[in-house]
Amino acid sequence: MTSLPTTVLRYTVDCRQPATHVLRVRLVLEDLDPGPHTLTLPVWTPGSYEVKDYARHLFDVRAFGPDGRPLALEKTRKNVWRFDHPGGSATVTYSVFAFELGVSSLHVDGTHAYWNGAGVFLFLDGRTDLPADLTIEAPPGWHVSTGLDPAPDGDGFRFRAPDYDVLIDCPVEVGTHRRFTFDVDGKPHTVAIWGSGNQDDERLVADTRRIVETQAAFFGGLPYRHYTFIFHIADRGGGLEHLNSTTCAMPRHRFKPFKHYRHVLGLISHEFFHLWNVKRIHPEALGPFDYNQEVYTRLLWAMEGFTDYYAYLLLRRGGLLSVRDYLDVLAEDIKRYEGLPGRKVQSLSESSFDTWIKLYKPDADSPNRTISYYLKGGLVALLLDFEIRRRTRLAKSLDDVLRLLYDRYGRAGRGFPEHAYQDAVEEVAGGSLADFFARYIHGVDDLPLDLTLAEAGLRILRLTKNPDHDRPEAEDDADGDRDEVSDPPVAWLGIETRSEDGRPVVATAYDPGPAAGLLYPGDEIVALAGDRIADAKALGERLRIDHEPGRTVTVAVFRRGRLELVDVTLGTAPPNQYRIKRVDTPTADQAALYEAWLAEPWPKAEASEARA
Ligand SMILES: [Zn+2]
Repeated sequence: MTSLPTTVLRYTVDCRQPATHVLRVRLVLEDLDPGPHTLTLPVWTPGSYEVKDYARHLFDVRAFGPDGRPLALEKTRKNVWRFDHPGGSATVTYSVFAFELGVSSLHVDGTHAYWNGAGVFLFLDGRTDLPADLTIEAPPGWHVSTGLDPAPDGDGFRFRAPDYDVLIDCPVEVGTHRRFTFDVDGKPHTVAIWGSGNQDDERLVADTRRIVETQAAFFGGLPYRHYTFIFHIADRGGGLEHLNSTTCAMPRHRFKPFKHYRHVLGLISHEFFHLWNVKRIHPEALGPFDYNQEVYTRLLWAMEGFTDYYAYLLLRRGGLLSVRDYLDVLAEDIKRYEGLPGRKVQSLSESSFDTWIKLYKPDADSPNRTISYYLKGGLVALLLDFEIRRRTRLAKSLDDVLRLLYDRYGRAGRGFPEHAYQDAVEEVAGGSLADFFARYIHGVDDLPLDLTLAEAGLRILRLTKNPDHDRPEAEDDADGDRDEVSDPPVAWLGIETRSEDGRPVVATAYDPGPAAGLLYPGDEIVALAGDRIADAKALGERLRIDHEPGRTVTVAVFRRGRLELVDVTLGTAPPNQYRIKRVDTPTADQAALYEAWLAEPWPKAEASEARA
């Protein structure tokens, strides 16, 4: 590090012509040393493990010397510009096309400007340690919500960041969005809501506040001065975590009924929990970051899967989900996991490592060869939580692992080596977990979910329900156990379909599965055993009503525009309804684990509750 500049990066972002979807950026650099300098835009943004190549949206990049004259500027990589400078101040200007709505993207239109900093801010000479000032020029009547600290003499449009990492870790929402505030532990929280649907703003804010309170109690305090939630209510879902803010995208009509809304709450809870787990508790690869290329870790199952586990578990413990709701969400996850052949092919550590080319770049074979570290990671968290509780006779739990990692590394602001995770789990559990890690994290053994949940007095029902099955009248009158019985086996082609112009097209043929090697991704299904198939609904109905497992049927498909007749021997459909139920009479140990885990006593009036 020789005679490097100590300049402040002074950025101005002009969004005064939002209908053009263009941000105009000016970067002023004072007291720059003479010589060559580089300007770089990240190729990815932390939290979204995908090379996004933000530079593809940059245009009209120019540099000017102290006298205002243009400097020679050369592009040297897809995301790097180089200029020679005589010394003194320099100004760089450029424009960014911003019309991709997404939490990790940039979107500017007549109603707002939203950006993730990785797509907007060039950094100087590889120096991500330089402080930055930001001024925002906006149309009249617009205001700004962001996790950035306001400048001391600011007017709501000027901000500062201690370094580039913080600058781009604070997404910015500018516009006429609705703003709500509340305090928790004496710290101000802002909820900025852009867009609307069937939500109730007041309830959304109150529930968000409850999430903050529950998680603050879990970790023992809030490690920031202020926090900003940016909610986009539009046509898509997803979220991205940041140091002291998050952006959550919520589909317009997912706020009712409650079985949908619980996933909105799950999203907010997940992103907020990240402010500890991944933003402050993280492996070394995840901060400080290399913005020029992919960074590798085998621990995303712990960063994302465990975050998902606690997202819903803490909603339960905080009273936002009932035990029934929580167990329903868990049952959905178990059903998804058990329906994916890829769980027997790709391990969690492989799924983490390859996220850049697999999870974020799925192909037609992904369900067969890959497993999501969110989905399986969440279930492994449950297994590990119960394992620790059993070994320590309920004295410890997975909660203690997270608190230990936070105390040891997170509070000190440093990442940990990859092996530290297993070390921490073993320290809390009081013994080796080598076998557990070998089988369920580095291996592809089936997760022992039935045995695990049985420890809390719970059993998993895997049922096949056929809405088109004729039931004898006597069965309708039978008592409540009827809903614990499967209908007769249902015929199954073993494919996922997507709709193209309303026509059912094979998206994936499950392998193993009845159609593996017979039906191809992209095949348009036109008839089954001679009956025309108009759409996916008709395909499901014909299989459920007219066919039986084990029979061979001819499937007529258009394959690249040519008719093919393919004989497929139908399989048996996997269970389509998963439920988690309490046993009738728990042992004392089962009831104790249930209560410690779910923060609710085993219900006394079980019989009347079961009917609810
Ligand atoms: Zn996440």
